[in-house]
Amino acid sequence: MRTLESLGDLRSQTVVVRCDLNVPLKEGVITDDGRIRASLTTIRELRAAGARVVLISHLGRPNGEPEAKYSLQPVAVRMAELLESPVSFVPETVGAAATAAVAALGDGDVVLLENLRFNAGETSKDDATRRAFAEQLAAFGQAFVSDGFGVVHRKQASVYDLAQLLPSAAGRLVAGELEVLKRLTESPQRPYTVVLGGSKVSDKLGVISHLLQRVDTLLIGGGMLFTFLAAQGHKVGASLLESDQLDTVRGYLAEADRLGVRIVLPTDIVVAEAFAADAAHEVVAADAIESSSFGAAGLGLDIGPETAKAFASVIEESSTVFWNGPMGVFEMAAFAEGTRTVARALTETQGFTVVGGGDSAAAVRALGFADDQFGHISTGGGASLEYLEGKALPGLEVLA
Ligand code: ADP
Ligand code: MG
Repeated sequence: MRTLESLGDLRSQTVVVRCDLNVPLKEGVITDDGRIRASLTTIRELRAAGARVVLISHLGRPNGEPEAKYSLQPVAVRMAELLESPVSFVPETVGAAATAAVAALGDGDVVLLENLRFNAGETSKDDATRRAFAEQLAAFGQAFVSDGFGVVHRKQASVYDLAQLLPSAAGRLVAGELEVLKRLTESPQRPYTVVLGGSKVSDKLGVISHLLQRVDTLLIGGGMLFTFLAAQGHKVGASLLESDQLDTVRGYLAEADRLGVRIVLPTDIVVAEAFAADAAHEVVAADAIESSSFGAAGLGLDIGPETAKAFASVIEESSTVFWNGPMGVFEMAAFAEGTRTVARALTETQGFTVVGGGDSAAAVRALGFADDQFGHISTGGGASLEYLEGKALPGLEVLA
């Protein structure tokens, strides 16, 4: 893979850098700046080399048009604080103002353009539409650096097409993430445990068939656990459920049996009356979710204490652990215990531990753990999962 060295002398060159600055925001305030911090190494290096730096990123999932709550403006402010140097911000991605701001850059200056996904071309499935947007981005500079690890699995304009329009290379973050993931794919130490949770259930179910070939134990928490429980014939109340995936999940359970891989499902669940921080909640057996006081209206929002303890003991006996996806709705204190117990187990095991995923990384920090208590905290959840599956990632292929 091409790295920054391949771009040669960058003095006075304008370099477009795709970062993943998709940080969690609550009422306009950044609640975890981990992804901004993770981007600094490359930016500092480019500035030191005298490059003129144009940062591009997405934030959240706007629908191809501007939406104030997804503005990157707060990110520019935080980035400037961390760099201890000005970062100008342009409230559009492409257009006259963006062009003028880029033209005004001096050596070592940094500008952040507005959210890429305010433009329908960024994520378009139509090759020509995507390409046209990428061409507008390419017009800003003489070189492209791909450093948004969280998006390298996406065939998007700023990730895939842009890399083919300019001399391009992987940034330090992408290169560093790959080093770690290689350790997980090329002869990982066993026992090897993968912990899956979170809410992007349909995205994540697909990785299981590949993981089954590679791991010793899978621990299932978060939103996807309910599809597993339902596949075993249990009622799950109003919990997250992918009913069209039940057969697939049954297939995974059978496959795991054949391969001798353990899939560990929760035995108890924290069930709530509503999706709210102050909702009434109870712990019930996983096979009797509708037996809570809330009946069929109850929603499972965390794994129960018995499950958390069982997961922790598997993790503590593992030599390699990869974790993606919070065990519950950790943003609400009442449903954060499962995630906390799993996180603590990762910090206590002797094994090599990797936490991947934007929300997973935010969760461990929000719960008071330090980055250095883990072997590695990856900025990409989906990207690292797809890498572990052995898939070709479009954003890396173009840097080969
Ligand atoms: P990551 O960003 O680490 O890949 P995801 O984006 O897939 O993780 O999922 C994170 C979200 O999953 C969190 O916001 C959390 O509240 C949510 N979540 C976890 N468990 C549940 C559950 N049982 N029901 C609903 N949402 C859940
Ligand atoms: Mg997420």
